[in-house]
Formats: sequence, C-alpha cells, structure tokens
Amino acid sequence: MTIEPERIRILNEAEPNPKGRYVLYLLQQANRAGFNPALEFTIEEANRLGVPVVACFGLLDGSNGFPEANARHYAFLLEGLADAAGNLAKRGVGFVLRKASPAEIAADLSREAALVVLDRGYLAIQKHWYGEIAARARVRVVQIEGDVVVPLETASGKHEHAARTLRPKIRRHLEAFLQPLRPTPVKHRADALDLGETIDVSEPGAVLAGMVLDRSVSPVKRFRGGESEARRRLSAFVADGLARYGAERGRPEADAASHMSPYLHFGQISPVEIALAVRAADTGTVEDRDAYVEEIVVRRELAMNHVHYTEGYDRFETAVPEWARRTLAEQAGDRRDTVYSEDELAEGRTHDHEWNVAMAEMRETGFMHNHLRMYWGKKILEWSPTPEEGFARTLRLNNRYFLDGRDANSFTNVAWVYGLHDRPWAHRPIFGTVRYQSRNSLRKIDVKAYERAVRALCEAERA
Ligand SMILES: Cc1cc2nc3c(=O)[nH]c(=O)nc-3n(C[C@H](O)[C@H](O)[C@H](O)COP(=O)(O)OP(=O)(O)OC[C@H]3O[C@@H](n4cnc5c(N)ncnc54)[C@H](O)[C@@H]3O)c2cc1C
Repeated sequence: MTIEPERIRILNEAEPNPKGRYVLYLLQQANRAGFNPALEFTIEEANRLGVPVVACFGLLDGSNGFPEANARHYAFLLEGLADAAGNLAKRGVGFVLRKASPAEIAADLSREAALVVLDRGYLAIQKHWYGEIAARARVRVVQIEGDVVVPLETASGKHEHAARTLRPKIRRHLEAFLQPLRPTPVKHRADALDLGETIDVSEPGAVLAGMVLDRSVSPVKRFRGGESEARRRLSAFVADGLARYGAERGRPEADAASHMSPYLHFGQISPVEIALAVRAADTGTVEDRDAYVEEIVVRRELAMNHVHYTEGYDRFETAVPEWARRTLAEQAGDRRDTVYSEDELAEGRTHDHEWNVAMAEMRETGFMHNHLRMYWGKKILEWSPTPEEGFARTLRLNNRYFLDGRDANSFTNVAWVYGLHDRPWAHRPIFGTVRYQSRNSLRKIDVKAYERAVRALCEAERA
C-alpha cells in the first residue's frame, strides 16, 4: 500500500460489497487526477477487487449552492473539473458530474459500488457531507486525508495556541509525510461502463452559463483553474520567484510569492507535491526553501487545526480568543474618527489610497498579496463601528472576492486580525492590546510599482 496508514479512516461499519460494479471515489476536496492519495487508494482497491474506478462530483447550484460561492469561484472550479475529467479519462477512470449535493451523488452511486472513497476537508459543511454519506451508504466508506502534509490528528489532538506550538509537532512528522506518490496503473478501465446521467464539463463556460448562481462577482482572467495550470505556475515559481522568496516575499510588487492558494483551495494541486518541488529546487537558498515550507505546511496546517477544533470558527464570539475579545470590548466606546460602510469598503472609497488599490486588486482580480491582506484586515477593524461588525464584514468581503476565499485559511486569518494565534502588544485606542498595523508597515513596498501592476492587471480583466 502506497498510502500512509495515518491518512486512512473507515467512516462506517458496513462491509465492502463483493458484487459492486466499481469502486467509487467522490471528488470533493481534492479535485485532481494527479498526486491525489484518495484516487491512488481507490485505484489500488479497485485493482485488488477486479473492478473499474468511477469518480464523481456533486455540483451545487441555485438555492442549494455552496455557501458564499459566486460566478468567480464556480468558473475556476469548473475549469479545474474539466482538466481533472480529461486526465481521469486518460487513466481509464470513469467520471460522473451531476447537479446534486456531494452526499446525494455519492449515496446514489454507492448503490452499485464495491466501496466508497472520500477525500478530506475540515469545514463544517464538508464534515456534514461526510457524515451523511457514511450514514446513507450501505457499503464501506473510507476517507483518505490527502490535502495536508501531516494528517491533522497525527500533528495534534487539540486546538493549538499558535504557530510556535504546532511547529515542533509538525516538524516531528514532516519527513515521514513528505513522500512522493507514484501513480498506480488502472487494471480495469471504466470506458464500457454505463453510468447514467452526467454533465459534459469539457466546455466549462457552457456549464457555468446553465447554472443558477450569484453573478455579481465576475470570473477573472488572471487565474485559470486546473491541475495543469497549477503545475505550470509551480514550475514558474520554482524557476523564478523562489530565489527571492526569503528576502522579498513581504513586497507585493516583487512577484516573489507562488500564487498557489487558489489551486490549493480548490484541491487542484497537492501541498505535498508543492513542498517536494520546492525542496528539490536548485534555485534559491536553504532559507528560501525553508521559509516557503514554513508557510505551506506550518501556517496552512495551523489554519486547518483551528477550524477543525473550533465550533463556530466563522463567528467573532467563538473564533477570537477570550483575551482579545476582552481588550477589544474595553475599547468599544473609543472615538472612531473614520467609519466606512461595507459598500464604501468594497468599492474602495476610503481616504487611504494604498488600501483602495489593494481592494481593487482583490475585487477585480480575485487575489491580494499576504502583506497587504494583513494591512487590509487591520484597517477594516479600525474603520468599523464595532469589532464584531468588523469581523463579519472582513469575512464577507474575503469570501466574496478572493478566489481562495471560503477556505480554512480565510476563517483563520480573519480571526488572526482580531488576535487569534497572536499575543498582546502595546496598548492603543480601538485595538486595546490586539496587534495594530500602521501605514508605516507599508514603507518597504514600492507603492508606485504596486499600483502600476494592479492597474495593468485590472485593465487586462476589462480587455
Ligand atoms: C486578512 C487575511 C485574509 C486571508 N485570507 C485568505 C484566504 O481567504 N485564503 C487563503 O488561502 N489564504 C488567506 N490568507 C493567507 C495568505 O495571505 C494567503 O494564503 C497567501 O497570500 C496566498 O498567496 P500565495 O499562494 O502566493 O502565498 P505564498 O507566500 O506563495 O505561500 C504559499 C502557501 O503557503 C500558505 N500560506 C501563506 N501565508 C499563509 C498564512 N498567513 N496563513 C496560512 N497559510 C499561508 C498558503 O497555502 C499559500 O498558498 C489571508 C491572510 C490574511 C492576513
């Protein structure tokens, strides 16, 4: 077995069905055909049982849509599914796409399956689906945890205080889980199987046009979805950006970041594949490579640890630590010279020119550099009538415009703005002892160069 046992969990009591026509894999978190432990596990099981592999995806739309997802997110998702479907077909794996919830399509196709395999995400809605599938399927349901480097419970059995407490726990297991994954050839192709109703996703634009969804946020040209595009970008980053990552990743205009976050969010690339490529790179120094692995493993998996162990990770009262809520409450009566409405923020109509430019990048192109995201979030806290309202609107804007929004990273980093995973700092109005960020924090950025780059990106979107 090529999959580490810690990545494998059996979710129900049912046995595999020896009469099943195929082994079913529900793509939900890991939407890719390459470097996907859940898919490789499925192929190994199907080969052993002497049956083909069928992958399926449940597309939610209309009133049943994925929470907060809009045309921008769906366009990227569908481009990714088109790529995955093509790659699955080349490997001899069947693919069924239907307008249904993940639980519905999996439960339906499980009736003729020998075994059902799931991948794993950590948001409440994903856990809800996994629970429903485990309860409804009359056949064994196995879950494979392939979108983190170190399986979540292996790293830690509790909510971690900060990166410094999770880091040693991750490091202890890093080498064991940073392993290549060899593709297993499919022994029994699915080409001849009749799988019933399915949507042809080879023209993702046509599928998008037929969906009922929020079209007020447009798809972007800056990022094209799919595992091939994710790999192309990774290679470009390793060849060019990585050598500047250690020294220049704090400067948005330096283009030293990898832009992997939309692809990671939609499961179009594996974090293990990325970390292995960065470690094997002959560009950059050890410091560049270590700095990158720190972000993609420790910081990213800290976010998953937070949402997994925090009920109500999307609410101020439950996501923000007690010390931070107390100090913010103590400052609640402080005079706020500048308060903006959510519309003024979304439209970038504040007095702060740099903030407005960053907001334009986010609104028009679906992305913003990490350094500016921190400044962006801290200013919304400063310019909102209450911390509770600031938290809620930061999360709404984050999840509406970012392609990588609605992720464990989104909920965790918005809560970071309000003190999560941080410590008390010097006392100030409005913030109390929650970390403040002044315009001075932008001093190392070449603001003019950043503004030129954003203007060019926005023009390209409108062209
Ligand atoms: C207010 C705020 C909101 C944010 N919202 C999101 C969000 O909605 N979705 C999202 O994926 N990230 C979010 N982040 C984290 C971070 O800004 C992005 O992950 C990063 O900018 C993505 O760009 P990149 O892939 O080029 O990053 P790189 O610098 O190339 O890093 C590589 C990968 O490491 C991980 N990473 C980097 N920085 C962080 C971080 N601070 N925390 C956790 N993981 C990190 C990401 O998976 C990223 O793709 C937010 C940060 C802040 C401060």
